Amino acid sequence: MDQRVFDYLNTYGIRADTRAFLEQEKKMLIGEKWVGAGDRETFDVIEFSTGGVVTQIPKGTAEDVDAAVTAARYQFEQGEWSKLSGLQREQLINRLADLMEENLEQLAEIESIDVGRNREISQEADVQGSIDTLRYFAGWASKISGRVGEPCSLPGSYLTYTMKEPVGVVGSIAPWNFPLNTTCWKLGATLATGCTTVIKPAELTSLSSLRLGELALEAGIPAGVVNVVTGAGSVVGRAIAEHPGVDKLTFTGSTPVGKSVGLAAINKLNHLTLELGGKSPVIVLEDVDIKSAAAKVAEGVFFNAGQVCDAGTRAYIHESIYDEFVAEVAACAKAMKIGPGLASDSFIPPLVGRKQFDSVVKHIQRGIEEGAELACGGLPEDIVNGVYVEPTVFKNCRNDMSIVREEIFGPVLVTAPFSTDDEAIELANDSEYGLASCIYGSDITRVLKIAPRIQAGSVKINGDGMVDPAMPFGGYKQSGVGKDLGQEQLEHFLETKTIFINLND
Ligand code: NAD
Repeated sequence: MDQRVFDYLNTYGIRADTRAFLEQEKKMLIGEKWVGAGDRETFDVIEFSTGGVVTQIPKGTAEDVDAAVTAARYQFEQGEWSKLSGLQREQLINRLADLMEENLEQLAEIESIDVGRNREISQEADVQGSIDTLRYFAGWASKISGRVGEPCSLPGSYLTYTMKEPVGVVGSIAPWNFPLNTTCWKLGATLATGCTTVIKPAELTSLSSLRLGELALEAGIPAGVVNVVTGAGSVVGRAIAEHPGVDKLTFTGSTPVGKSVGLAAINKLNHLTLELGGKSPVIVLEDVDIKSAAAKVAEGVFFNAGQVCDAGTRAYIHESIYDEFVAEVAACAKAMKIGPGLASDSFIPPLVGRKQFDSVVKHIQRGIEEGAELACGGLPEDIVNGVYVEPTVFKNCRNDMSIVREEIFGPVLVTAPFSTDDEAIELANDSEYGLASCIYGSDITRVLKIAPRIQAGSVKINGDGMVDPAMPFGGYKQSGVGKDLGQEQLEHFLETKTIFINLND
């Protein structure tokens, strides 16, 4: 840990057990072994507000993935895990959730230091959200069943039924923005269905997955069921996607990488879930309470500095309230406190690393060059050493501008006026992405007529940031294939087997 991080942690104060976790050597979980870097390369974990190094993490290899898949396959096919009943798995998942609850504050601090997000928000959104998701899926473990007495039209007499069987070893690849939560979305369904897994967290934010591995073992989940291999996407991620022993791939990340891992999975005819990028539209009708709706739009897009896949980043606002509404969103944006994750009043965190900062700055620069007007924010004062980008609102954007078409993944809202509902829907759907959307309006009949016409995996009405373990989450178009969460997610982790019994002589 370098001095900058040391000073940062001392300034704001962290728990002794968080410090102890940060200071211990980081090891990957492969079967029953904790595997340190040894002669492998390592990569630095950076605290983004200071740029200081927190610790080093091993760069796993294709051989590490192979060993993890072997351990996962053993537990799936013949180990202790393969013999457990659904009720026993339910108890183990709940035990893991209990341990996470006992370590709620420590997990929140790890996530806050690693991702940069406010500590209290991390506790509520990341850790509690992960616990809730695990508990939701724990409940399913003892209730997954096929159907007996399926209708059968064959002449004569038959008894038919279906069985649900776990698909096998699940490769789980996550991005850097909500590492614990994304991984637990995948882990809940994995464990509930009786699958086993090899988890690969993002290089930039691997810490919480390593702690999750420790807690999984402590909960009594047999070693080898949950494996965590850290390292580069091009090595570890790729090895997971291409490994013949992986039966299902569940990937969350960018659309280009998703397509490449998707091809590898399809080549093996693997089960596949892809949760990819977004550029989600927001439609604001003229009958809204402007103050209240503007605050929700601002929070929806600027939460976590806009590094949220389903953030409402394109706002189409009725022309009769356009100027007033944009001014109100800009006022909300200006009031948001920028600061590091451990500062209790921070809302806008540093961007996740230099690469992300440069990319967001480049988009803002292009927006200005393309002629969009700034309502607030803009280029950061310190472009050379900066880590923060102020919430930025662009006015009078056109759908052919790059800032409207491309995912920026930073605190940038583009806005444009519309005059009719048909025009708003056309503008909203004019995107290669289709992850989420929002509609704000008081005339619920009008809103409910618009909702089905939006090409997106979710439509949030009069609010944003609504996620629930029971509600499927996933995209249309270039935003993905398949769903996470809800009963629907389980289907992606299960095979259906049909049994015919001939009762004829
Ligand atoms: P990314 O695609 O660069 O990386 C995601 C993961 O894939 C990382 O773990 C990375 O190491 C790994 N990876 C990279 N190259 C790989 C390869 N060749 N083979 C296998 N794995 C590889 O995405 P990111 O920058 O970490 O995250 C931001 C992106 O994730 C945004 O586009 C965002 O919209 C998307 N995202 C989507 C959702 C969703 O649910 N739809 C949620 C969060 C983030």
